[in-house]
Order: sequence, then structure tokens, then C-alpha cells
Amino acid sequence: MSSITEQLIGEYFATGTLAGLPSGHFIDGKSRPAATGRTMETFDPGTTKVFAQFAAGDAEDVEAAVASSDRAFRDCWRKVAPAERGRILQRAAEGIRANAERLAVVETLDNGKSLAEAQGDIRSAARLFEYYAGAADKLQGETIPLGMDYLSYTSLEPVGVTAHIIPWNYPTSTMVRGIAPALAAGCTVVVKPAEQTPLTALMLAEILRDAGLPDGVCNVLTGTGTAVGAPLVAHAKVRHITFTGSVNTGSLVMQAAARNITSVTLELGGKSPAVMLADCDIDAAVEDVLWAIFSNSGQTCSAGSRLVIERSIHAEFVERLAARTRKLSFGHGLRNPEIGAISSQEQLNKIAGYVDEAKSRGVRVAVGGSRTVDQASGSGWFFQPTILDDVGPLDVVVQEEIFGPVLSVQIADSAEQALELANGTAFGLAAGIYTRDIKKALRLARDIDAGQIYINEYYAGGVETPFGGNKLSGFGREKGLEGLRAYCRVKSVTARI
Ligand code: ADP
Repeated sequence: MSSITEQLIGEYFATGTLAGLPSGHFIDGKSRPAATGRTMETFDPGTTKVFAQFAAGDAEDVEAAVASSDRAFRDCWRKVAPAERGRILQRAAEGIRANAERLAVVETLDNGKSLAEAQGDIRSAARLFEYYAGAADKLQGETIPLGMDYLSYTSLEPVGVTAHIIPWNYPTSTMVRGIAPALAAGCTVVVKPAEQTPLTALMLAEILRDAGLPDGVCNVLTGTGTAVGAPLVAHAKVRHITFTGSVNTGSLVMQAAARNITSVTLELGGKSPAVMLADCDIDAAVEDVLWAIFSNSGQTCSAGSRLVIERSIHAEFVERLAARTRKLSFGHGLRNPEIGAISSQEQLNKIAGYVDEAKSRGVRVAVGGSRTVDQASGSGWFFQPTILDDVGPLDVVVQEEIFGPVLSVQIADSAEQALELANGTAFGLAAGIYTRDIKKALRLARDIDAGQIYINEYYAGGVETPFGGNKLSGFGREKGLEGLRAYCRVKSVTARI
């Protein structure tokens, strides 16, 4: 561990906070308190204690931020040459790397995840800026052949002010996968991080300013979904909304957007299966399924939260997976365990509720099943990594997103039944397929209704691969070149010559 990280950890455990944390909204290149002067508190899930305060915004702050982003769009950012936009985004990537240690420690404190996971999220944020920096000057239109008497061409124009509503599970990387393509395309952004995890968004806004992003191009507003998120998504000057969060809130956001005919990208929940066929490589697959569900304590939209497995390998597989699960270390994120905390008391209660009800219905718990605490301090919001075995296809823990470290196992009697079970929920975000037979794998990839398919490695892919859902998991794609589409409008120009 490097000395900066060690110093920050020492400071935190000695004082219960860190000096120099941002606390105001970030509007027009400056930190400022909420118009009402009100503040909220943010908790360290590893201890359950408050460690910082931040501005509790409302509609007045939303008005100021949108006006600032609108001005910055019209007078400044859309006029900046694409190559220069790319250079600024490249400097943002460098700025994130230069501040990576502090960002990762703050992310760990705000969210509860392990330091190694937070470091991975910060690396992917830097990579996203780097990727879209390279795309800024490649957003080209086409010429359209209409014959000798016409010249017809298309151009890709930035949509204008965009709103980004961010969840608490991957605060930095989710924010950047939306704002990096938006900024590359020439849009300005107003970001509303989750009230549980507001700090790294404010730090990123400062890093962007220091990278040369003009004032007003990236504004960040903190506060609750009702007080800040709702007026932001209802604002007529916002021309695209990128929302990541729950299905219910996504539906509210879409309804608000409909009033202004604002376009939306919705990345909502999932109940994604890891489909395990009898001819899979069991050693590799056990380890893969373990991290598909338990990384980030299962608080991942695309988590492999169901294991759909052929009967002939079911008993051996679940036994080995349970044995491996029992060995996972957990604790305060800054002590860098394999599994961190649950991000909030509310989320912990929700997870415990699902598992308690499953137990009372007689569902077999292969491992885990209870709340727990950090053994070192006796505190924190933790839930044991849990496997619920042989669950029926209509059971609540198969149909609903728990968003915690809980795997539901479903047994299939054939590859055909595995496909039916895999598609048997209202979600369609991701699916893993495990088999040595490439023909079977590609057929399942064709037939599973999901936005991402991972063959023999869950979460395979990266910044370059489009990400998004089908059915209740939403629509629109982020990441990759697809991720730029939402932020560009095609204009066709045709001249008679
Ligand atoms: P969760 O219930 O897991 O916290 P949400 O989908 O409610 O998930 O939250 C995701 C993000 O949406 C957060 O930033 C939250 O503040 C914001 N949010 C909540 N309600 C609204 C709303 N009505 N309009 C816009 N944003 C909202």
C-alpha cells in the first residue's frame, strides 16, 4: 500500500473523517452551499457513523445549475473544437489517475466497498475519459447520394444540457460512463449523485475544472431524489436524461421526461443468470460465479444473482461454491477485505427481509443467510454472502432484484429448460453462459433476452463494450461507441445545386 493511502487511512481511523472533503454543490466552477443553507450527512457503512456533510439542494439550486449549463452550452462548449474537447478529457483522465488514491479512499468510506474495488472503479473512470477523449473528433456525418442536382449530408450535433442521475453502488464509474461521452459530444452536464454517496462526484468536478473544462460545463448538485432529482429531470432545458437506478424511480423519471419530450437512457435493475451447462469447466466456473454475485456485496445491477444449473452437476457445484463462500473475508472497506459493507441501513433491511421471508417459506440456505458485523469493530452494515438453493422459478428471490450478496440457485433438466429459466424474469440486463461447447454457447447467446452476454467469464468486456438492458432493465446503451449516440442528434442538410 502506498504512503498516501496509508496516511489517509491513518487520518480517518484517528479522526473519524478526512480533512478537505468537498461539501457544497459545484456550480459554475465554484463550490457553493445550498440556497437554503441546509446540509445532509453521509455515513460510513463500515462503521455506521457520520463522517461528512454536504449541501441539501432543492429546486432553486437546480435552476441555478441548469441555467449555468445552458449558458455554457450555447456560449462556450459547443463552440470548442472537438480536438480540444478531446484534449481536456484526456487531461481529466490524467487528473483522475493523479488523484486516484484519495478518490478510492473517499469512495470506500462513502459506499462501504473494499478499497481494492474502489481502486478498480477509479481506474475504469480514468479509462472512460481516455476512451471518449479519443472519440471527440471522430463524430462524423455522412453524405447521401441523391443524384447530380443535390448535395445532402448529415452532421452529429450535441443535444444540449444533459442530466445524469447516479446511484450509490458505483458512484464514480457510473457518473463517468455518462458524462464522458456527453462532454465528448459537446453537451454540458448536470450531475445528481445519490444522497448516500455524493463526495466523489464533487471531487471529479474539481478535477475536470483543473483539467481545463470551462465553468458551467459540468455542474454537480447534491441532495435527495425528491428535492433535487425530480426538479432536474422535469426541467424543460434538459434535453437528455441518463438515469441509473431502480425500476420504480426510472419509471418516474421517464414520466417526467415525457412532459418535455426529453430523451432518456434508463439503466435499471437486473436478475441476471449464470447459466451452467453440464460440460462446463467447474473449477473455473465456481470462482467466476462467486465474484459474479459477491463482488461489491452483490450491489451491482448486472450481478449474476441467479445460478441456473444442469441437475447432473448441481450438488457438486453448490457444495464447492458454498465452501468457497464460507472462506470469504469481510470487514471495513479500508482494511481491504474481499467483501465490504452494505451501503445503507435501508438496503441492509431490504436484503435481510428477502432472506428471512425465503427462510420462512422453507427455501434451503446452503450458506450465509444473516446480518453480521465487522469482526474487528463489532459494527457496520454487513450481510453474510448467501446461497439459496433449488428455488422455484416463480419464487420472489428468483423474480425480484435483491441487490445484495444473495445467489438464488435454479435447477434445469436440459439446456432447453435452462434457456427457459434464464429468460423467466421480467428483467433482461446480462447473462453468463458456461460450457465447453461453442455451438451451445452461441445458441444460448442468440436466444437469451439480455443486453450483455458473457461466455465463460462473467463481466467479460470493458469500457469498449456497450452496456444496457432489455425489458424492465431499461433501454439505451452506455459505454463503447454506442454510448455516444444518446448525446448526438443527427441533422440532415440537403441543398438543390
Ligand atoms: P434506490 O432506491 O436504490 O436508492 P433510486 O432509483 O431511488 O434507487 O435512486 C437512484 C438515484 O435516483 C439517486 O440519485 C436518487 O436520489 C435519484 N432519485 C430518486 N427519486 C428520484 C426522482 N423522483 N426523480 C429523479 N431522481 C430521483
